[in-house]
Amino acid sequence: MSLLDASPGPQTPAEAEGLRAIAVRRRWVWGWFLGGMLIVLATGALRVSERVMFVAVPIWIGLWGVLILWNARARCPRCHRLFSNTWLGGKPFARHCVHCGLSFAPWSSPE
Ligand SMILES: [Zn+2]
Repeated sequence: MSLLDASPGPQTPAEAEGLRAIAVRRRWVWGWFLGGMLIVLATGALRVSERVMFVAVPIWIGLWGVLILWNARARCPRCHRLFSNTWLGGKPFARHCVHCGLSFAPWSSPE
């Protein structure tokens, strides 16, 4: 496929901004998870008490769950429906809107 016959890309400036906001949510989900893992590993090496871990780990996982829900509730800037979910389920890290096909890649079309 050449650039000439590619479908028109997503992006009005408002749509591009909406996609950036979705990308930020996804970075929070991954960053919170990976950052928490590093902290857990570090606390293991530093021999932090089990009591602290007993409180900190559920808070970390609970807030991660909140971030996952926040990501799942992201709305498509074009069709304003949930970007990565349908009532049948979802693809939490879909590269395009599961409803209208708006893609993160301006030159691609939905599969
Ligand atoms: Zn959409």
